[in-house]
This record gives sequence, C-alpha cells and structure tokens, in this order.
Amino acid sequence: MSLIRLRNLNFSYRTSDGEDVPVLKNLNLEVHSGELLAIQGPSGSGKSTLLYIIGCLLNSYQGDVEISGQNIASFSDEQLAILRNQHIGFVFQQFHLLPKATVLDNILLPSQYPSETPKSFYASIERAEKLIDELGLQGRSHHFPNQLSGGQQQRVSIARALLNDAQIILADEPTGSLDTHNSKQIMELLKSANKTGRTVIIITHDPEIAQQCNKVVHFRDGEIKEIVDNKKMPTVLGQNLSDTFSCQKIETNRNRWDLFNRYIRVGISLIPLALQSLKQNKSRSILTMLGIVIGVAAVLSMITIGSFTKNRILESYAEMGVNTIMFYGFPNWELKATDQVPVVFQSFNWNRDLVPLKKVFPEVIGISPMMRSWDNKISYAGKIIDSDVRSLGVSADGLPIANRKIIIGNNFSPFHIEYRSAVCVIGFEIYQRLFMNVSPVGQIVTVSQRDYSFGCRVIGVLESQTSNKEWSKPNLQIYLPYTFFQGTTDPWASQIRDVVIQVRDGADASLVGKKIKAFFEMKYGKSARFDIGSDSKLIAQMNKFLSLFTILLAAIAMVSLAVGGIGITNMMLVSVSERFKEIGIRKAFGATNFSIRVQYLVESVLICSLAGAIGLTVGFILYEGAIYGATKLISNLTFEWIIDLTALSLSIISIFVVGVLSGLTPALKAEKLQVIEALRSE
Ligand code: ADP
Ligand code: MG
Repeated sequence: MSLIRLRNLNFSYRTSDGEDVPVLKNLNLEVHSGELLAIQGPSGSGKSTLLYIIGCLLNSYQGDVEISGQNIASFSDEQLAILRNQHIGFVFQQFHLLPKATVLDNILLPSQYPSETPKSFYASIERAEKLIDELGLQGRSHHFPNQLSGGQQQRVSIARALLNDAQIILADEPTGSLDTHNSKQIMELLKSANKTGRTVIIITHDPEIAQQCNKVVHFRDGEIKEIVDNKKMPTVLGQNLSDTFSCQKIETNRNRWDLFNRYIRVGISLIPLALQSLKQNKSRSILTMLGIVIGVAAVLSMITIGSFTKNRILESYAEMGVNTIMFYGFPNWELKATDQVPVVFQSFNWNRDLVPLKKVFPEVIGISPMMRSWDNKISYAGKIIDSDVRSLGVSADGLPIANRKIIIGNNFSPFHIEYRSAVCVIGFEIYQRLFMNVSPVGQIVTVSQRDYSFGCRVIGVLESQTSNKEWSKPNLQIYLPYTFFQGTTDPWASQIRDVVIQVRDGADASLVGKKIKAFFEMKYGKSARFDIGSDSKLIAQMNKFLSLFTILLAAIAMVSLAVGGIGITNMMLVSVSERFKEIGIRKAFGATNFSIRVQYLVESVLICSLAGAIGLTVGFILYEGAIYGATKLISNLTFEWIIDLTALSLSIISIFVVGVLSGLTPALKAEKLQVIEALRSE
C-alpha cells in the first residue's frame, strides 16, 4: 500500500480580486513508505504548495489526498494537527525557527502540543538532547537562532522535525539557503533519516540534489511531467505507518462541558508559553499592564470610596436608619364646624391606623410610635444622672428601625409591648455611669419624669452612637415599650402622633411617605394634618443623589479600565501580525486552531490578572489613603479598614471580562491565519 497517494489533485489560489489562479493541475502521485523522493521543478511551479497540501496545512483543494490509506478530507482540525505533530516533520528553506526561543526550546516545539500518545516532558528533553548530539549541535542548546550559522539552524530544524519520530519528513528546498559544504551535510542528515526507515520528500530546483534521491518527480507549471527511478539508489524498506496511525480514533463530537475542560487543560499547559512571550516583550507588556493597573485601581477605589462616603454622610444625617420615614399626625385646630369629615382624628390608634399600613403598603417592613419625654433623670443604687436624659416609647420594631444595636441583653419582645412591661433598654453612657461593676441586665433603675417616678427593669444596653446634632444625646436615651410609656405620662403626651416607618431596601422612601400621607388624608379628611419629617425627605434625596454619584464614579473608572483593555487588544493585535510567522510554525508542528486561540486568550487573561492583582493592591492603598487623609481633615470621621465586597467582586469580574474580551479579537484573527501565508511572510 502506498503511504501517500494523490488523486486528481487540483488547487488554485484566490487572489484579492476574487480570481482563481490554478497552481496544481490534476496531479496523480503515489509515494511508498521508505522512499527518498525528490520533487524537482523551477521556481513558481507550485512545489511548495504541493508540499503544504501533503503536510495537511492547506485544505481547500479538489481531489483526494490519502495518507496511509485514509482520506484526510474527513479529518478534523485537531486530527490534522495531531497527524502533523506525530507523523510529519517539516524542514523549510528559511529554517523557520522561533527567533526568541533557544535551540533546545525550538527543538522541543512539537512537544508543546497534544498528541495521541503524550510523552513526559523529561522524555522529550532527553530525546532533544540526544538529537542535539547526533546532529552535531553540542554546546549550542542555549543559543538563540541568530547566534547560529545557516547550516546549524537547518540542523536545529531537522532535529525539531525528528523530535516526535515522524515517519514522513517534508523538506522544502532544505539546502536552498546554504553553501555547498553545509548543503552536503544537510543532505547526508536527510539521507540518514531515510535509511532508518523514514519517508523523505525533498523539494528542490537543483538537479544535483535530486540526483541523490531514489526517485525524482519532474514538476513544471503545476503538472508532473515525468517520474524517474534512480537505479543507483534502491528504496529501503520503510516503517509502516498504519500501526501507529490512528487519528480517526480521536473523538470529534464533544459536548460543551468537554470543550470547557479542554479550554482549561490547554490553557493551563500554555501558561509557561504565555509568560515567555510576555517576558520577551517586557517593556511593552509593562506599559500595557499599566493601563489595566490604573483601571482596576480606579474601579476598586472609586466604588469603595463612593459607597463609604455615601454611608458616612447618610449616617451623620440620619438619626434614624436610611430607609426610614418620620411621619407626624396632628388634629386640625382650624377645623370649622361646617367642614364635613368622615372620621375625626385625635391621634394614631395602633391597631386601627398603624397595623394596617404593612398590609396596605408592602414596602413597609417596620412601624413604631416615637414618643419622647425630655429632661428625665435616671438613678440606680445611689448614683444618678440628672441632665440630658431622655426616655422614648417605641414598639418592638423601634430599635431596629433606628438602627440601634444592642450589645448586652435583648430588644423588647412583642410580649413586652402587649403587656406594658416595665422594662427598658438603656444608652451606652447610662450603662457606663450607673453600672460600673454590675451586670446591668435584670437591675431595676428609677426613672423620674417631671412629676412622676417609676421603676423599670433593664433588659438591654445599646451600642454607643454619635450624632452630629447638638441636642441629640443618643447615649443618654432610655427606650421603653410605648404601651408602658403611655402609662407614665400625661394624657396628651401619651398619644401617638410621631411614627417611624421603615421601608425595605431599594424602595423609594419619599414616594412611600407621600402615599402614606395620601392614605391618611383620605381617611381623616380635613380633621387632621399629616406631615413627613424633613429629615426623611432630605435623606431620601441625598440617598438618591449619593447612589448616583457612586455610579458615576464607577462609570468613569470603568471607562478607564476599558481604555486599559483596548490597550491590551491593541498590543495583542500588534503581536498577531508580528508573530504571523510564529503562528504558522506552531501550526505546522501541531498547534490546532483551538490551541492558537487559547494561547492568545491565556496571554491576555494572564496580563489582566497580573495587572489586576497589582491594580487591586494599588486601589486598596489608594482608598485607605484617601480615608486616612479625610480623617485628618474632618474631625469626627474615624479611620477604618474596609473591604467593600461589591467593589471587590465588581473589580475582579471586570478584570476577567476585560481579559477575555481583549484577547478575543486577536485570538480569532490569529486562528484564521492561513499557515501557508504565515510561513511565506518574512
Ligand atoms: P514554488 O514552491 O514551486 O516556487 P509555490 O508553490 O510557492 O511555487 O507557488 C506557486 C504559484 O502560486 C506561484 O506562481 C505563486 O506566485 C503563486 N502563489 C503563491 N501564494 C499565493 C497566494 N497567496 N495568492 C496567489 N498566488 C499565490
Ligand atoms: Mg517554494
């Protein structure tokens, strides 16, 4: 059986005007295993084109190409790549070594790509070192191609072709750029490769070279004119390819998960390669990374600072939490006897007016009366605090709504509210001043209002809180169940007129406030006046404004990150055109389109991750520095270490998005490159 068989092979190049230029015309050729075959013809006759087709690098031909009895037209891109990687070795006139890789790395190139029978890395190195010895390249393994003579470079490329023990060697004018002495040596190497059973096809325009082969195919204008057997050079028995040649076994149908796995596997195996190429273009990589560093640092610090500022500003203005509404209702003193009203309003009734609010307005998640009594005194075991103490009556929702945290003990239970329990939750300063050495929970304190004193049991202590309002002393407050509070004070003060309402996160507090106002106005007509606290309105507006401000900052930061991403795309696109030839060489030695694509993606994701990590650090230092600076300027701001998870995750996500997006265009461009054009480019 013939090893290579061409039947009615036709091939045309399509020029940029869309014209087809026929290059190979109706070729029929059989090459047997173990042959040393010369294809001899003048320049421009289509020899290289023929070689690329036999080498599975060009597939837009008509007719059949069979290798070892299998029609390669049915092979997938990956199968063809494996076929090249395992069974075909190329030797080119211009050597086509990777200029920035050492001799050893150049020889090892075929081992970078997947094969049917993966060898260990060390086995490949051993093999490469053996070839270096055999081909007389001792002591050169760490040299770069430009430090070698032409003859030496060609020997490196032969070693590369032999690394995976290919049975077919395709040499395109292997001696075309060499002097006679080196030509001779190279021919001897190719002949000895043939003597060990390999099939060698040598393309040449030189009859002297052709004379040294078993068989000469005379080629002219894309046609075979004559095939001459060289009687002096009988063919040796060749290796049989079919034992090892089983590309068809490779699965072609893969599901998405397999594809993803493959991306990851190929991706990881390409990381050293990507690092190498970044190192080779150090200053350019660093400058490009700078764009990403700035972008990521900006995204992280802008979003963090934005939300930090927002929270601090709102906190300092909101005596209550941010999503709360202060709501007031008063009887209308100017109500005329002639005014028709449905129901006359005196004060809010808990069950009739306030409990239904949660049902009517689903945005409402908490309601509490807010009753206040000024100038109270509180005493315990002979100690007394007699100024600035205030008591407040609330429901069980009251403390959570006011955003007050309890550090010792518990909040009121609905039971305390319902049964008017004589219990209280005290502010931090009261705790400090009255309970130096005693646990406060369970102790009875005496609270004195203007003309009334009562005892109540402490059930909790509030976390310390600051306020920027002069009169507000949050640490000297005593919270009581409003039902109990009603019993301690005069009838007027015991009526519910002030209410705090909490809306769920994301709801528009001022809008809900307006709706609640309209709801009560409908219910009580002119008999009452309802009002929304001015703080609530201000905070709602400020909240909106500050959120917008944060989004704006983030958007500006994102733009700078996008600019960084464009920098990467640009660098990679430049590198695609610069590495035109490299891509061609890689494909010739077994890179699939897929691995070329992954290589570019890995490179861009790697740059982005490296730059991103630096950017995150820089961003962190930036915003902590800004916060530190602000604490120096604004007296009641305290320094803190913050990690804003939203900002952090947004930054990390954008690093990867930018990495993949900026690698995609170059990756697709690199993948589409025609090998033959890539190899022809200088
Ligand atoms: P040889 O190796 O025998 O010198 P080639 O196979 O390199 O010949 O080229 C065969 C013919 O195809 C030449 O005439 C060349 O000009 C033409 N050719 C090569 N590449 C292209 C291309 N990309 N587009 C159009 N014509 C091409
Ligand atoms: Mg040529």
